[in-house]
Amino acid sequence: MVPQGTEVIINVTAAGVCHTDLHIREGGFDLGHGRRMNYAERGVALPKIAGHEVAGVVAAVGPDAGPVDMSKAYVVYPWGGCGTCDFCAAGEEQLCTQPQFLGIHRDGGYATQVRVAHPRYLFDAGDLAPEIAAPLGCSGLTTYAALKKISSTSGTHTPVLIGGGGLGLMCLQLLKAQKLKMPVVVDLARDKREAALAAGAVAAIDPTDADAIEQVHRACGGAPLAVIDFVGAEQTAEFAMNVVGKGATIIVVGLFGGATPWAIPMLPLKSVTVRGSYTGSLSEFGELMEFARNGAITPIPTKSYLLTQADEVLDLLETGKVIGRAILANG
Ligand SMILES: [Zn+2]
Ligand SMILES: [Zn+2]
Repeated sequence: MVPQGTEVIINVTAAGVCHTDLHIREGGFDLGHGRRMNYAERGVALPKIAGHEVAGVVAAVGPDAGPVDMSKAYVVYPWGGCGTCDFCAAGEEQLCTQPQFLGIHRDGGYATQVRVAHPRYLFDAGDLAPEIAAPLGCSGLTTYAALKKISSTSGTHTPVLIGGGGLGLMCLQLLKAQKLKMPVVVDLARDKREAALAAGAVAAIDPTDADAIEQVHRACGGAPLAVIDFVGAEQTAEFAMNVVGKGATIIVVGLFGGATPWAIPMLPLKSVTVRGSYTGSLSEFGELMEFARNGAITPIPTKSYLLTQADEVLDLLETGKVIGRAILANG
């Protein structure tokens, strides 16, 4: 690959396999009420190479890219925008209305090389192993930015995390690194609950238990003031609304799909804030990478596969058989 303009070509050393990649493979999301969001209708021209969690080293630098330290290993911020709108000017490129996300709108990291639009998207990976560094670009950043949105209570009240998969485990690490209250984790799967407990969750609860809500309240010392829903399904959204106390905040992160299941009066009656969180900003990624380089984040369990096993790994993820994070490694 030859870089043009400000582009940097990265030799990919590791690419994380994210649950979103399943939606990308399917072509969209279930929006509930029989509707779907299709990437193709949103200007994503196919085919595209998936993979938005990318770690690597610099192979080549474009003529207008400015100085780039080629001796360092990097993690790529994949959520770039147009670069000129108000969101992009404020560093909130993930909110740009003309997104240029790697692995969605631009070819991503399930490859030996990836074309990055500008060196501002490269973050020093320090001494982090590529398989540890790569998932920080999505699962790490998504979790970090979601946690910032509950920061008014996360130092004093036990939060609830719905979903003990890759994001949930990353969240446990970030709470620990920031010395915040460790959470109660809710997950259907026994192995994920066990992994959450091993990672420091104060309790791990099966939402299908008849008294699951009471169990959460007991473990939190009352109705929780913050829930982060890493699944984003109708059942988890319903559980979140039922479990929270008055004045609570529900952060929806997961993109499983479906329609909101609540009675609208529940929002004012409980004075609940429901807020979405999608990845994070460039500056949030900088903060996260500083935590990570300083060794404050214990790596989540990762399992490495060959690049040629991408489809097989997505199948495993689809059937819930991946604990922690699956990585496609090069070399
Ligand atoms: Zn992702
Ligand atoms: Zn923009």
